[in-house]
Amino acid sequence: MFFRRAREDRAFREAQRAGHALLLQLQATQPWRDFPEPTAPVPASAAEESAVSDLPPPELRVPPTQEVAGLMMRWVQPLVVYGEVRACPECGAYRDWIVFCMRDDSIWLRCRAGHETKESGLDAAWYNRNSGPVDRFHPTLEAGLRHLGH
Ligand SMILES: [Zn+2]
Repeated sequence: MFFRRAREDRAFREAQRAGHALLLQLQATQPWRDFPEPTAPVPASAAEESAVSDLPPPELRVPPTQEVAGLMMRWVQPLVVYGEVRACPECGAYRDWIVFCMRDDSIWLRCRAGHETKESGLDAAWYNRNSGPVDRFHPTLEAGLRHLGH
């Protein structure tokens, strides 16, 4: 009994398998009318490309503030603090500064001759009000100075 039963089951499963294979064959050759043709999925690489192209080019990417030593901008006109024109204590220069805003929010002035003076009358808030948006990262101070024309 048991063996006969098993044989019947095997025959049934084989018939089932054959029917399933036939069904797959039909699906492969005849498109189902009720289902629309699936739209081709967007290749992942194309999606990534469009995402990347939304980012600015690498030279315009700005590292997080905690990774930079400070910010710098050129200040060509005389710099007036509390109504006084700031002059370099070493050489007397009073214009064409590089203004640094360091990570500790201190402001430093650097004259054309390279003398650096801390300017306690100014702070990071002043710097942010007066500087443009940070659009460039310089790997070294020298590179930054060169870029700003010093
Ligand atoms: Zn100087």
